Amino acid sequence: MSTCCSINAEKENTWAPGSCPTCQAKGKKVELITLFQLIKRTFQKEIHRRNQYYFCSSKECEIVLLLF
Ligand SMILES: [Zn+2]
Repeated sequence: MSTCCSINAEKENTWAPGSCPTCQAKGKKVELITLFQLIKRTFQKEIHRRNQYYFCSSKECEIVLLLF
């Protein structure tokens, strides 16, 4: 799978799903069941089942949970 030519274009034009909007790092896809275990109960009602959630694993980024 060759994506070397499209990476630069994507950075300028479109934001890639699953990547952190802050640090551009690729997020880790997390299942809903895992999400429920990790977040506080008060935020669980904010979870939408149709959305896909990602973690940003970058140490430089303060965003832990990305919502898409
Ligand atoms: Zn990030």
